Amino acid sequence: LDSPDVYALDAVDVGLHWPVPGLADDKYTQGVAGIAAGSSTYPGAAVLAAGAAVLATAGMVRYVGPAAEAVRAQWPEVVATGSVADAGRVQSWVAGPGIGTGSEGRDTLERVLADGVPVCVDADGINLLARSPTLFDARDPATPLVLTPHDREFARLVGDPGSDRVGAARRAAVDLRSVVLLKGNTTIVAAPDGRVLANVARGSWLATAGSGDVLSGLVGALLASGMDPWLAAGCSAWLHSLAGELAARGAPTSASGILAAIPEALRGIRVQQ
Ligand code: AMP
Ligand code: MG
Repeated sequence: LDSPDVYALDAVDVGLHWPVPGLADDKYTQGVAGIAAGSSTYPGAAVLAAGAAVLATAGMVRYVGPAAEAVRAQWPEVVATGSVADAGRVQSWVAGPGIGTGSEGRDTLERVLADGVPVCVDADGINLLARSPTLFDARDPATPLVLTPHDREFARLVGDPGSDRVGAARRAAVDLRSVVLLKGNTTIVAAPDGRVLANVARGSWLATAGSGDVLSGLVGALLASGMDPWLAAGCSAWLHSLAGELAARGAPTSASGILAAIPEALRGIRVQQ
């Protein structure tokens, strides 16, 4: 991490890049984020990812999947439909949290990858890609992809990251032609063009169930705004850490707590603009 070619973001960087709606903006110009997440077993993953996209200033959030009822109950502003084909236009997708590794999840991922907009693939979406690498062929070659594995997901996809996490993430980004966000106490974000940043967590409170689902929703909102995918992933990791710190304040928190702290985290960086 002391390498000069590994960047670090600070509050000023994130505050400058996080989109703020302008006078002429409307919900569509701010970005419509699509969330393909959740299942009957894991409806919570959908609620958390969709909620993070809502709070991260997506102009609109669309949800597709079997957890529509749970998502609507928690986030009435989310437009929920059954399938990707019925979803309507989006400017980005998040695919994977809680979708399972069955055929339904696989079909969803395949459709999302072919939709021609930037995609953040997380959790079971990554497990599906690891199992069926031919799914990568469904991807439009011009479609930016952001993969957000934790170590075990990374290992399934490309092998154990080992101790050289920067090198491992960098190689995976090149090989998979994707932005790779390797999660951990220090999160590495590598782009296929060689850019790498590291985000050192503020404490370990983020290591809690559902935390990664919140992160994926942040990435989806920023991708929908048109932000560079590497920067979108980096800014998301940074803000997620801050939200975790604000939610915890020295005591254990939860993914719901991290989610609820997103507005406070955003207010914190806006002050610096
Ligand atoms: P997931 O495993 O998908 O729920 O994601 C876990 C989230 O918690 C990621 O954002 C990780 O970067 C973060 N995280 C995991 N372990 C730690 C840790 N020991 N310290 C700080 N953050 C962590
Ligand atoms: Mg996860």
